[in-house]
Amino acid sequence: MPPITRAQLIAYLDDALTDAETAQVEQALRESEPLRRTLRTLIQERDRGEHSIGAIWRRERLSCPSREQLGSFLLQVLDADLADYIDFHIQTVACPYCQANLADLQALQKESAPQVQKRRQRFFESSAGLLRPNR
Ligand SMILES: [Zn+2]
Repeated sequence: MPPITRAQLIAYLDDALTDAETAQVEQALRESEPLRRTLRTLIQERDRGEHSIGAIWRRERLSCPSREQLGSFLLQVLDADLADYIDFHIQTVACPYCQANLADLQALQKESAPQVQKRRQRFFESSAGLLRPNR
């Protein structure tokens, strides 16, 4: 079984998982103290109304990322938590709307590869030193 991600825990708290996925998360929670700790932290963050991804999505009343966020996701320039969430939304929730949107963006980005390259370049130059190591 793949490890449970933060995004999955958030979706679990949001009641956004299928029954099978919920069972999987609960099983993992029973077996893992570190995971329970992560869940407690997430719940505390929610209670404090912090800017957790879950809080942001709820506040915006969105379950779907914006087209701009999907574009940034393709460029791999998103915050890790948001990227996790979108990955989860696309792969696990398998939202047909976002999958279509993403495919469309992918086609567009292929057409404008030179500009994308430039944008990516700018991003990495501007955030050099702020990049976190890969997890
Ligand atoms: Zn969606």
